[in-house]
Amino acid sequence: MSPRAVPATRDRLRIAIQKSGRLAEPARALLAACGLSWRESRDKLFCYGESLPIDLLLVRDDDIPGLIADGVCDFGVVGRNELDEQAGERARAGLAPAYQALRPLGFGQCRLMLAVPDHWEWQGAGQLQGLRIATSYPAILSNWLERQGVEAGVVELSGSVEIAPRLGTADLICDLVSSGATLAANQLKPVETLLDSEAVLAGPVREFDDERAGLASMLLRRVDGVLKLKDSKLLMFRANRDTVAELSRLLPDAEPLVQLPGSGEGPLSLQTMCHGAITWQRLEELERAGAQGLMVLSVERSLA
Ligand code: ATP
Ligand code: ZN
Repeated sequence: MSPRAVPATRDRLRIAIQKSGRLAEPARALLAACGLSWRESRDKLFCYGESLPIDLLLVRDDDIPGLIADGVCDFGVVGRNELDEQAGERARAGLAPAYQALRPLGFGQCRLMLAVPDHWEWQGAGQLQGLRIATSYPAILSNWLERQGVEAGVVELSGSVEIAPRLGTADLICDLVSSGATLAANQLKPVETLLDSEAVLAGPVREFDDERAGLASMLLRRVDGVLKLKDSKLLMFRANRDTVAELSRLLPDAEPLVQLPGSGEGPLSLQTMCHGAITWQRLEELERAGAQGLMVLSVERSLA
């Protein structure tokens, strides 16, 4: 389909996610937690939204920024690395920005790093002058080299970047790293981080002026709700008034304590939403500080 064939207005939203790969399952899980469900189609490229007028397109992650830029899709779940790279390519070609990262999603974490042969002694960016660097991220790398004031050759490779130094096609590499195991297996060591990346919800830079506007703000609100509740628990307990200040101090990752109506005389009934892990150790500490009848509850959904 050519971009011109895409209608300017639509009454359904389309979200592009990776068909298979590292971001595929977490992206589906996030959207399902937002209340979306789909009829799986036989071609497995387009999934019709059943619970809401929001459809899924299953594609290669590299295609997602372009699909948003062309208006084929409205949103996408894609690594910041891919989004920044393609935004960088557009900027270098003199094109206006066509998409933006709307929300970091907390999965798909990795780093775009320079990695050099194990035996090198790393002395900083100045050492790269005149060398050849293999990468699948030429725009991010070129921008970084410019900022460092270094002139180095950028060797663009679409895959297996890590073997380039052994093959002699480059002196070092710039690639995604999570555990570092692939680098180690190729006698390389990471020395410099160019980008801390994670999956993001990407969307267009312009606002919708049709049915999609309402759907888009509902989706974003639900995504925010799901992200906020990740690792959140509702904590309930009773406590005497004179212990409340100390208990609040022990809950720096919680929202302000809320007093529940009720008991009149005696201990207060309190609750708070806690956004960090509540371990047994923390509960025991709260108990020692005066909390009674501590209860930790899972929170399924919230529009708070
Ligand atoms: P396709 O192009 O077929 O969709 P791919 O091979 O480009 O797949 P994956 O390897 O699944 O894709 O990586 C998708 C994204 O996952 C990356 O762009 C990056 O944002 C993120 N990611 C997280 N950890 C890593 C890692 N160790 N190596 C590569 N990507 C990682
Ligand atoms: Zn890809």
